[in-house]
Amino acid sequence: MSIQEPSKCCVCGDPTTKRCQACAKSGIDLFFCSPEHQKLVWKHHKHVCGANAHPFRYPPLSQDELDGLLAFEHELVTDQYRDNILSALPEIEHELTPDKIARGHAALQQTVVGRMLERRLGWPAFSYANIVRFLSSSPATPNDAYRRTLFRLRYEIWAYHLRARGNMSDAFAQTPFWSNIALFDLTQLASLAVDLPVDSLVRSQYLHSLVVLVSLAVQRLQDCTAIPLAYLQRASEQILACFGDLKPGVDEKDALAAIAPLLDALRGAGVGRMEVWRTVSGRLAGSCT
Ligand SMILES: [Zn+2]
Ligand SMILES: [Zn+2]
Repeated sequence: MSIQEPSKCCVCGDPTTKRCQACAKSGIDLFFCSPEHQKLVWKHHKHVCGANAHPFRYPPLSQDELDGLLAFEHELVTDQYRDNILSALPEIEHELTPDKIARGHAALQQTVVGRMLERRLGWPAFSYANIVRFLSSSPATPNDAYRRTLFRLRYEIWAYHLRARGNMSDAFAQTPFWSNIALFDLTQLASLAVDLPVDSLVRSQYLHSLVVLVSLAVQRLQDCTAIPLAYLQRASEQILACFGDLKPGVDEKDALAAIAPLLDALRGAGVGRMEVWRTVSGRLAGSCT
């Protein structure tokens, strides 16, 4: 099955037949025209390469993420934070059951973040630090609850940086790598109704393309001579094509709306506006202007 444009380097977009061998064994096509371009994103790709490639398996919390979450525990819950929770609730909860709504409202009564998250996630009181530490180690076979909790906490880390910085570009630059990936993991957001099983190949393929794009973007943010803008634009275009596979039949306007936060975040790295259309074969395509 061809999921992304076969034989385009995922870094520079040049035609190639070479791919990451370790990932290919797991069924993932990740093309790199040269060892140099594979090395360019290796720092991040290595965590999800080979055995972790498909089904795509997030690494456990990084030291940065762990430190951040432990520091949040005693932070005061502001009114703005409460408003954010209320508006984000339908987005991050797949089934908004009466039970979850009740937990959400109980959480809003709490004054510090650790106690509030315990309520929201249905954890015992004062278990926060232990659970967060557990999530920085990788269980032999992560179950659904582990994956879901890891995702939720990464979302919290991102939301913290958004509150602190006030805009997507700056929050993106400050958020640890895997929390940014979780934020743009459109397969987990309820409003898009993608909701793919964890072993879906299109899900894994999308997430690998996302790791490449975000890896290039954060490197360019640190040093704009390290990564040409054209690479970021190609990688953004590939994400869009993958999104078309995640949600076949999605119209151009909705596709653009879905990836708009990602493009917003990338604006700091110089990626401009994206235009979206359908190719003759019905695939989503785009170009940055
Ligand atoms: Zn290349
Ligand atoms: Zn690989």
